[in-house]
Amino acid sequence: MSEAVVVKGVVVTPFEMISRGMVVVEDGRVTYVGPEAETSGMVYDFGDGIVAPGFIDLHIHGGAGFDVMDGSPRSIDGISRHLAAGGVTSFLPTTCTAPQRDLIAAARAVKATLNRGTGGAEVLGLHMEGPYLNPVRGGAQNPAHIRPPSIDEIAEVQREADGVLRMVTLAPELDGALDLAEGLNASGVVPSAGHTDATYVEMEAAVDAGFRHVAHLFNAMRPFHHREPGVVGAALTDGRVTVELIADGVHLHPAALRLAATVKGVGKTALVSDSISSAGLPDGEYVFGGRKVILRGDRCLLESGALAGGAIRLCDAVRNMVELTGLPIIEAVEMASSTPARIIGVADRKGSLKPGMDADLTVLSPGFSVLLTMVGGRVVYERGGGER
Ligand SMILES: [Zn+2]
Ligand SMILES: [Zn+2]
Repeated sequence: MSEAVVVKGVVVTPFEMISRGMVVVEDGRVTYVGPEAETSGMVYDFGDGIVAPGFIDLHIHGGAGFDVMDGSPRSIDGISRHLAAGGVTSFLPTTCTAPQRDLIAAARAVKATLNRGTGGAEVLGLHMEGPYLNPVRGGAQNPAHIRPPSIDEIAEVQREADGVLRMVTLAPELDGALDLAEGLNASGVVPSAGHTDATYVEMEAAVDAGFRHVAHLFNAMRPFHHREPGVVGAALTDGRVTVELIADGVHLHPAALRLAATVKGVGKTALVSDSISSAGLPDGEYVFGGRKVILRGDRCLLESGALAGGAIRLCDAVRNMVELTGLPIIEAVEMASSTPARIIGVADRKGSLKPGMDADLTVLSPGFSVLLTMVGGRVVYERGGGER
């Protein structure tokens, strides 16, 4: 047995807050969560720092110059290190709308990285965003590669990358989408509605057919109307559905963030970054899905001025939920940890702090900067210490 590691601070499990708390980690697992107590081992004392379960990003295309679509394990590893510095301990690398051969290359790289492990956040599987999207709501996805749903293509990705898929975002109103969703659900992959012009009635039929999640609620979908509530109305009122929000302060007004957190509840609303490869780089011009994008601070735009994905990490999203919407810290942390874990079915080992769980921890300063990130008991980021 290796030496125990003791992390002291304000522990947010995230279902309760323990103000002088501690988490003990041994052999990659959490063995104690509670008030400070006598113990032996290597001690990190963060005082009034927040000790939270590691954040889980279900929707992330890239960062620090690395893109999931590079189709390279080295890029996935680069993203994993970039994310670790933002408090993320596991993630679903996310593809964008692209030709099938590029999707297969990306899926293989994700599978290889999942098997081998990373230097940062852990890979939990693949999220395919598209290519089965409604061009009317295509957003930053390259329209040249948008196509109708294909069960054969998805089966090929699963075969070529040994069952790496965990989530597929598609437009449920397209021909064949409901059949595809049924098949995904049956094989444990979460069908997610996104880039969709579905009406309320179409979305309810989609939920009946197995759609369980909505990608970046409010963005790239038919807006809410009181006589045609669309996907937004169905997502907010149907208890079978979970949603995700891009809480970067750019994609959504604070009132839209508050609306989802209040109506849907933080247990069914996950925070995602939807970040692209230019996240974490200096302002300038970059490429996403073969199209030019312009990065200015937290804002990443196409030449048309349309939003082209995110530029933040989940520590920023948690801070935004607290500072822009007034949500209690424990609820904002839940949206970045326990809720995403439940959405993809890994809550038995990730997303909350209690004995037996994977030792995935994020420690934040009271101002929400990341002080330490631990994945499976290993410190992968420490502020001042840089990456490990
Ligand atoms: Zn999208
Ligand atoms: Zn995306």
